[in-house]
Amino acid sequence: MTASCAVGEMSYTALTSRMSDRIVAGRIPVEGTLELTYRCNLACVQCYCNLPAGDEEARRKELTTPEVYRILDGIAEAGCLWLLLTGGEILLRKDFLEIYAYAKRKGFLLTLFTNGAGITARIADALASEPPFAIEITLYGASEGTYRRVTGRSGQYARVLAGIERILERRLPLALKSTIVEQNEPDLPAMREFAHARGLSFRYSAELHPRTDDPGGVVGDRLTPEAALELDRADPERWEELRKLFTVEDRSRLSNRSPSLFICYAGVSGFHINPYGRLQFCPSIEALGHDLRKVPFAEAWRRFAAFRRLQAPPVRACNECDLNVACGSCAGEAHLDSGDMTRGTEFHHRLTSLRADAFGLRLTENEKGALKIDAGT
Ligand code: SF4
Ligand code: SF4
Repeated sequence: MTASCAVGEMSYTALTSRMSDRIVAGRIPVEGTLELTYRCNLACVQCYCNLPAGDEEARRKELTTPEVYRILDGIAEAGCLWLLLTGGEILLRKDFLEIYAYAKRKGFLLTLFTNGAGITARIADALASEPPFAIEITLYGASEGTYRRVTGRSGQYARVLAGIERILERRLPLALKSTIVEQNEPDLPAMREFAHARGLSFRYSAELHPRTDDPGGVVGDRLTPEAALELDRADPERWEELRKLFTVEDRSRLSNRSPSLFICYAGVSGFHINPYGRLQFCPSIEALGHDLRKVPFAEAWRRFAAFRRLQAPPVRACNECDLNVACGSCAGEAHLDSGDMTRGTEFHHRLTSLRADAFGLRLTENEKGALKIDAGT
């Protein structure tokens, strides 16, 4: 979401901040993600959810067009405003443009996540006739060779560049991003330069998700936390953001002391729907959810209040951590990482320690393993 557009006479930022208290108090599902498919034309080494483009069994399980429409009706009725359409690769669905047009008619502010390789002139024209709120394309490198190494496919780099040019020619709102793994890490400066040369924002992450269909599975190509810290250091803008975060005067802002297992937006204002119609409380935890083919959205959302009340068990270190606001670990990440949502993830724990150390915070761990800031630092 960008913070620069204006809605009527009120700025977007002012509008959203005014809305947020009411949204939280009323538990309004104002922002959601709809995954249209797990299938993808690429086979990226780091992907957490892709299945082959031609996987017929996966395709048969996907929501049909009328089922998607019914779900869009339900979430619009419940108050959803911001909707992200993602995958897999959304453009693999033959009915993508129909779904898009229907969602536009419902009035959602639509964000599209795509790998960009399928943006033909026809798709770009259709998007230009009813522009989305935002389009985000993930770059996997800055050359054909890197693309081949990361995506496992040939010829995709040129297709992605062509897709980006089509979006730019039509002046659609576009941002670029990347997931950094060992195979494309050397291309990071060139990807950033590519984006900035076209006036586009660019962000990246080295924090990979383990596969959703293999919680606890190995994330083999993830950078080490030490290498991720070096990427931070090499990016002045990011380093400055981290500096502000870790050197904040009021250190209580670095820690959320809620006793809840979930301290994020899940079940308060945000939701996630998978390609098979399962409404998930958290995108990383399939078990906490309801089948929208059987239960209307409003009822499933009402039932989410019970998940929201789940308390963290006393052994959970993250609830006692002095840096849990600055750490990317959460119950969902932990569930995928180790199958145990009551633990922190080792990657995030180490990266948070390294970042804190880089900004002069001395840390100890309590008996549960929670990070504690030495008051003298
Ligand atoms: S730094 Fe460790 S203890 Fe703290 S929130 Fe992250 S994973 Fe949990
Ligand atoms: S992945 Fe983490 S932050 Fe996201 S909804 Fe799940 S618990 Fe919350």
